[in-house]
Amino acid sequence: MKTSIKKLRKFFRLEAERDYDNKAVMGGLANILSSWELEAREDELPEQIIQAVISRLRDYHRLSEESREVALKGIWKRVNKESLQDKKRDKVDEVNLPTDKPAPAPQQISEHPAQKKEPSQPKQKKQQVEKTVTPPAEKLDFDTPVNSIKGIGEKKTAALTRMGISSIRDLLYTFPRRHDDYSKLKPIGSLWFGEEVTVIGTIDSVSTRSVRGGKMKLVEAMVSDKSGALRVTWFNQPWLEGQLSRAKHVVLSGEIEQYLGRLTMNNPEWEPLSNEQLHTNRIVPVYPLTKDITQKWLRGVLHDTVQKYGPSIEDPLPDQLRSSISLPVLSTAIQEIHFPDSDQSLQKAKQRLAFDELFLLQMGVLKQKKQWENRPGQVFDSPDVWINSRLEQLPFQLTKAQIKTLTQVREDLCSGHPMNRLLQGDVGSGKTVIAALAALIVVRQGAQAAFMAPTSILAEQHFQSLKKLLGNNPDEIKENEITLLIGSTPEDQKEQIRKKLSQGEIKLVIGTHALLQEPVEFQNLQLAIVDEQHRFGVEQRGTLRQKGNNPHLLVMTATPIPRSLALTTFGDLELSVIDELPPGRLPVETHVLFPREIERAYSLVRRQVDKGNQAFIIYPLVEESEKIDEKAAVEEFSRLQKEIFPSYSLGLLHGQMRPDDKESVMTLFRDKEIQILVSTSVVEVGVDIPGATVMLVEGAHRFGLAQLHQFRGRVGRSDQKSYCILIPGNAEEIENQRLQAMVETNDGFVLAEKDLEIRGPGQFLGTRQSGYTELKLASITDLKLVEQARQHASELFRQDPELSQENHQKLALAVNQFWTLKNSGDIS
Ligand code: ADP
Ligand code: MG
Repeated sequence: MKTSIKKLRKFFRLEAERDYDNKAVMGGLANILSSWELEAREDELPEQIIQAVISRLRDYHRLSEESREVALKGIWKRVNKESLQDKKRDKVDEVNLPTDKPAPAPQQISEHPAQKKEPSQPKQKKQQVEKTVTPPAEKLDFDTPVNSIKGIGEKKTAALTRMGISSIRDLLYTFPRRHDDYSKLKPIGSLWFGEEVTVIGTIDSVSTRSVRGGKMKLVEAMVSDKSGALRVTWFNQPWLEGQLSRAKHVVLSGEIEQYLGRLTMNNPEWEPLSNEQLHTNRIVPVYPLTKDITQKWLRGVLHDTVQKYGPSIEDPLPDQLRSSISLPVLSTAIQEIHFPDSDQSLQKAKQRLAFDELFLLQMGVLKQKKQWENRPGQVFDSPDVWINSRLEQLPFQLTKAQIKTLTQVREDLCSGHPMNRLLQGDVGSGKTVIAALAALIVVRQGAQAAFMAPTSILAEQHFQSLKKLLGNNPDEIKENEITLLIGSTPEDQKEQIRKKLSQGEIKLVIGTHALLQEPVEFQNLQLAIVDEQHRFGVEQRGTLRQKGNNPHLLVMTATPIPRSLALTTFGDLELSVIDELPPGRLPVETHVLFPREIERAYSLVRRQVDKGNQAFIIYPLVEESEKIDEKAAVEEFSRLQKEIFPSYSLGLLHGQMRPDDKESVMTLFRDKEIQILVSTSVVEVGVDIPGATVMLVEGAHRFGLAQLHQFRGRVGRSDQKSYCILIPGNAEEIENQRLQAMVETNDGFVLAEKDLEIRGPGQFLGTRQSGYTELKLASITDLKLVEQARQHASELFRQDPELSQENHQKLALAVNQFWTLKNSGDIS
């Protein structure tokens, strides 16, 4: 027979002999609980038995003598039965406690929620508890402010507000950051070095001492249970001494370490042991906290709130949808995420809540898309005859993928609704020409177009190439109808440009953020183009678009958008992909070299330049401090010119140069007057120098994968073989996974997926991500769940786009709630 069961029998017998006077144990029978529970767990008694024993013995002293008899006999019957079922070899002792009377009256039973759902608990208990959770008749208002809860005063309200909690709903949606599973508690005696565990024990002693010559205070406690003792230390938190000595029994979570051959825990998370932890929940929530809010307090508040409001939470998902995803109802999910019955039900609850987030996100995205599609847009025709004659003027033939994309853009422009299209194509795939043609289609009918790029170097380049591409047809657009507007444009010119834009004399303006400024107004803006969209935020695109009346929108990116993001954050845009490079392009050969091998890279540069090609050398600094950066770039440049490449012509480009200096350097480089361009990361995006065949990146480990891929995209833009040499700042970084990924593939899509894995979605989102903070449980990168949510959302949307059906009212409300929480609602 198991020790814990033997002990129970011993104490129960003693009690029976004393006619149930509660004196078999000093201080009352309940006093055996703290040690008995640990033993029972060691013995691996079924959890429901442990809980049953605890809940009965805890209230034993309150019972009359007769009830005590009933209670002990009832419980023993149960222990005995369970032990028999438990097919252990131990033969359970014959019981000499009579078992003919019913189990104890239900009043003594715990009313805590975790127990109510205990599947194997006796019937009458279940009924009893179910009664306590039946929704009250009054209608509960989830918008009730938290300060209406008893015990939440001014100070607590302020603290909760800091955590973003102001209503009951907020409170219910404050999810635990983790759960501690007390059913997996380990006795101290059987801990292993290196384990992550939670233990419960008694504090035997606490002391503080100074170490490192008094520089550091160390609080040390000995914590023990029946099975052994553990030394626990906290560094530099001297105030813990008092708290710990008051606590007596504690829960500790952390990693088991070793010190002088003994097991220890350093800086574990800890809290005083409360009855609730031991007695009500096997799996206990651990919440994020702030000043003035303690774990125990918040847990208590949530416990009460979940109990009161949880059962009344209505499910916004239509029944049919919910059953098709086989996830729990919202009410259960909310209750389970706070106070789960089992790990399994916790996981289910998380899945359900994550699904909700993505689903509501999708509903909003689709709604937005629909709204956009329903607006009127000016019709811009582009007859085949006309477009073909324009294509004939291009210096090259469009690729199939370019033609397909152009067709989609032409269809959008004459659809009568505003275009809302994302054009994605790897670096060098030829997106600019598509944008140029779209602009031409719009301006030839007398309307205006704006083309926004993230850097002035790029805007300048686009200005030059659009002039060239479009300049042959003065009846459609004249040279003086195309203009450049960047931050450094002199104020008097800016004034002129603004005037001409508002009077419609300028048809096509190419520029940077300067285009967004307040005084810039258009007479009739009908097309907004945004290049390298990931460099801009939602607001900026919105601002540009608002300068016209429902203009067509074309955003372009070289960063391939992983599918999960294409469905969520970009889900309101139509997508065109140029998945083909112009003919004759050779894949760029990529190498990672040790810093000491840099001379090899230099000789590659010399060989290529001798052949009439050109090279980029990216200077390692990432514009952290502009002043230092400038100085270092200038020094590096003169060193390279004097010592490494004395007989070549070098140019220098960095962000702090005057704009016309930048411009002339770029022009010289494009015209091959400059053979080697030493530059900071300002050339990262978009720059198009077809003669360049070497991209040498120093300090390459400092750059992100997307950036490195962009750098590499500056070469390989002709039919010449090109090279990308990546040199990390130190030898250890040679194994850097981003650099290795660059060697492994030229495929921007593979790299983007990899980058998503390494860095998360932030880089793809720009400031878009600000709207996505409402995703607490769902990961935007969880493609499976995203696709599921999308599928169900589209389905529902097809049936009832306005969510006007009776059974969709709750959902409509939830969608609104979700979206007003997030942002202004404009996500494109
Ligand atoms: P990105 O998609 O990276 O913006 P660009 O539009 O800058 O690419 O184009 C890259 C280079 O390829 C440019 O020099 C452009 O003139 C050239 N190009 C674009 N389309 C074609 C094509 N179909 N055939 C040959 N060269 C092309
Ligand atoms: Mg480009």
